[in-house]
This record gives sequence, C-alpha cells and structure tokens, in this order.
Amino acid sequence: MPYSFQIGSIPCHIVSDGRQLVDGGGFFGLVPRVLWERVIRPDDKNRIPVQMRSLLVQSSAGLILVDTGQGDKLTARDRRNFGMDDSSRRLAADLGRVGFSPEDVDIVLMTHLHGDHAGGCTHWSDPADPDSEAVPSFPNARYLVQRLEMADASFPNERTRGTYFPQNWEPLRRSGQLEIVDGDQNLAAGVRTVTVPGHTDSIQAVWVEDGGHSLLFLGDTCSWAAHIDRLAWVPSFDLDPMRSIEGKRALRQQAQEKNALLVFQHDGQIVTGRLVSGSRGPVVDAEITEDAWP
Ligand SMILES: [Zn+2]
Repeated sequence: MPYSFQIGSIPCHIVSDGRQLVDGGGFFGLVPRVLWERVIRPDDKNRIPVQMRSLLVQSSAGLILVDTGQGDKLTARDRRNFGMDDSSRRLAADLGRVGFSPEDVDIVLMTHLHGDHAGGCTHWSDPADPDSEAVPSFPNARYLVQRLEMADASFPNERTRGTYFPQNWEPLRRSGQLEIVDGDQNLAAGVRTVTVPGHTDSIQAVWVEDGGHSLLFLGDTCSWAAHIDRLAWVPSFDLDPMRSIEGKRALRQQAQEKNALLVFQHDGQIVTGRLVSGSRGPVVDAEITEDAWP
C-alpha cells in the first residue's frame, strides 16, 4: 500500500514492489535467533517477511524513483524460493495508486544494484517469455548508478555473484539511459544522496529536506528499524560490517539532530519512524506500521 506525505513543500510517496520471504539469519547476521525473533517472528522455515519499498519524490528536477524492487524477471522457481506469488507489475500498480505511470519517472536513483533493488529496472519485452529481450521499465528516465557499484556489479566475486544480474542494467546502457555518477549527489532542490559504505562499497542513502523538515531513506544501510536501534545488528549480506556500523552511527546522529522521518526499505512491520531517546541510546518510535503476517 502506498503512503503519501509532504516534507516541507516536497511531495513524497512510499511505494512497494511487494513482499518476499527471506531467511531471518540474512538480515540479522550474528544475532542469535532468540533475540531477533522478539523483533520479528519467523515462519516454520525461519523466513521473515521483507518488503521491497521505493521512495518517490516529486522534486524540482522531476519525478525521482529510488530503487525498483525485485521486478518480474524471476523464474517460477525463484519466486517460490522467495515466497512470492505470481502477481506482476506490483511497483507500477503502486505508482498508479499515487497518480503516476512508469512513463512519468524522470530519474531512477539506484541505491545499489543488488537484485531486490535493481530487478525492476527492466522487464521482459514479452512478459510470458523469459527468452525475450529485457527492456527498460521506465522508458523516459535517466538511471543513476555509482561508478564503484557498477564496477562491483560488473566484476562480481564468489560472494556477490548471486545478486548481480547484467539483464538489470545492460538494457539501460544500450538505450543510453544509464548514467554513472561518482560520490554524493545533489539531485534536485532539497534532494541529495550520501554514500554510506558497508552493505556494498558505495551504497547510497537519500535525504529529502525542506523548510526545516527532513526525510532519510535508509535503503540497505539500515533496512530494518532494529538495525538503527542496535548498531551491532548488521545483516549477513553486508560486505564490510564494521564500516556499516560506523555509517549507521553517523546517520543515526544526523537523523536525531534533524528529527528526520526515517523510511525503512525492508522492515516487514515498521515503514517509518523517528528517533527518540531510550535508556541505551536513540531508538525508533514507529509512525507507520504494517502487519508482518497479514
Ligand atoms: Zn535490499
């Protein structure tokens, strides 16, 4: 379900490519299950519900979409493994619910190129035929990708090979829509990115700020609220856990100073919240929540 609000004068929407089921150990790393299952109850296969949210910003530079979810190129077997049903065009449907179509998107900002963020960049030209050509899902958009992320995705290693798929970005290169950027970006008035290495070497978070109001889209720097409450809780997916922790510490301090609205990309329960003081440091006070197991 989409959520719409304003940050100062900037209209923002949280849209979603839907939900998948992922092993809880992936998101909570070294944390014993007896601790993380107090945050989120797993199913009988130890899987937890993981949302694939995107941020949509009606900015001075046009309509900006941050990340594109898993998309529709998965095989039936992949979908089964991810606990996904057969529904398609989920992100496009959510865009429609807030009054937009994929053709309206001017900028697609990729926080990074992992499959559950970049899969929706493209789709099969014949949805029923996985041997058909992958084509851009947002035909009028520039797709922005960090140079270092592009290099990591293009030359994966044993650890990263399972999540980087050229069909998610090669069609964008061919169509001239892929734009390589270096470092922090000012995308529009009040909209900027910051690279926060850890999950990958150049993953980005996104700030939207106007009139003394702030939003921080954390992406996979803190994909669940529990990751910002507890700095030591780092997903197994992160390539450099100690840098993740330092990045989270800095983001948490900035978010607290600005009383920023935090958006959690994957949290199956907490969509947004703000930091309040707790007995052991800042903790998330949830604002928008969803049923983990509807
Ligand atoms: Zn992710």
